Amino acid sequence: MTSYTVLNPATEQPVSTVPGTSSEETDAAIARAEVAQRAWRSVAPGDRASLLRAFAAQVDAHAEELARLEVENSGHPVGAARWEAGQVRDVLQYYAAAPERLIGKQIPVAGGLNVTFAEPLGVVGLIVPWNFPMPILSWGMAPALAAGNTVVAKPAEMTPLTAMRIGELALEAGLPEHVFQVLPGKGSVVGQRLVHHPAVRKIVFTGSTEVGQQIMAGCAKQVKRLTLELGGKSANIVFADADIERAAATAPYAVFDNAGQDCCARSRILVGDPTLADTEMGPLISASHRANVAKYVPDGAPVAFRGSAPAGPGYWFPPTVLAPIGSGAPAYTDEIFGPVVTVTPFEDEADAIEIANDTPYGLSGSIWTSNIGRAIRVARAVETGNLSVNSHSSVRYWTPFGGFKQSGLGRELGPDALDAFTETKNVFISTQE
Ligand code: NDP
Repeated sequence: MTSYTVLNPATEQPVSTVPGTSSEETDAAIARAEVAQRAWRSVAPGDRASLLRAFAAQVDAHAEELARLEVENSGHPVGAARWEAGQVRDVLQYYAAAPERLIGKQIPVAGGLNVTFAEPLGVVGLIVPWNFPMPILSWGMAPALAAGNTVVAKPAEMTPLTAMRIGELALEAGLPEHVFQVLPGKGSVVGQRLVHHPAVRKIVFTGSTEVGQQIMAGCAKQVKRLTLELGGKSANIVFADADIERAAATAPYAVFDNAGQDCCARSRILVGDPTLADTEMGPLISASHRANVAKYVPDGAPVAFRGSAPAGPGYWFPPTVLAPIGSGAPAYTDEIFGPVVTVTPFEDEADAIEIANDTPYGLSGSIWTSNIGRAIRVARAVETGNLSVNSHSSVRYWTPFGGFKQSGLGRELGPDALDAFTETKNVFISTQE
């Protein structure tokens, strides 16, 4: 087994040395997960629920430790990291209620009846990006386990530490061995094996659209189930009749939260006049990612505002607002995944909708208006999976989440999430003598 060093993006100092899982080790973990699943699916629903509640309690008891680990590994501000650890606990608790509600239907038919069962799929492969290592892990892990699947998770190479600790907490909480395994390592090695191994019956992938397309092609070879949560280029549409002060006060959070490394970042503000608030944010994840983000603000770019960033070590990038730029400019069209936002004026409602939809993505967005009819009209017309009205936040674990167009396939979260982790078995029972 090789190993690699994980860096703190705020200091550029080593945090930990982590094993880089090989292809063969991934295969062995999948084989263990396959065996463990036969027993896990047979655990009585109430007992599976209790184990998930114990797992949630264990995460809660170690929330501060997990938050501190995330601060070191991902550079998230501690307040955000505490929220993220709490999210893992809450998502586990929410889906702990699911095993006892996994019921089928009975359908009367001529000569008997049909009954349906929601059967677990088997081994689920979970591939997680570096921007929200804990929440995104939990969104796939918790419903998959609740449905009776075992999970092999691959955290992003740069941010594996909290996922690895959560794997230990699962065991400490009493989950049977190999029901939930975490394999740190490369996407091109561990991720690829999860996609191509026939015993993995579903992939849950969150990451870039480009890699998502490759994963979809890989899954197609085995007709493997797949959930894709991909990139975004979301609009924050501010109408003149909105509470402008509130819209302006939250606009920075809508795009600069997590240093803009947020798939739901509203990185296009459609409005007349940009207003900024002070933002508190951490560094970007790596030097190479910072170089990518910097390309969107070349010399001579129409910078309307630029915040400050700490000098010295760390992959810092100042929050940056670009004045109106052409609709062909990369900052206008691409997912920047950093704290850079463009401001674009619009004429009327139809124009705002057209600009908002002028992107291959469709993940998120916000609408600011005091006119409820307009809010609903525009929400229905914007081609995107998650919208908020007079708010910058649209992600809640008890409501469905996922993208339109090239932002993804399938829905995570909410009460129906287990549909994606089960298959329906339909059994006819004859009542003939
Ligand atoms: P990547 O697509 O580069 O990586 C995501 C994960 O996939 C990582 O664990 C990565 O491993 C792995 N991976 C990379 N290549 C392969 C491969 N060939 N086969 C299997 N696995 C692979 O995305 P980023 O980490 O850069 O994350 C940023 C992207 O994620 C943005 O586009 C963002 O919008 C999107 N995102 C979407 C969300 C949503 O819910 N829709 C939420 C959060 C982020 P490795 O670490 O080795 O690169």
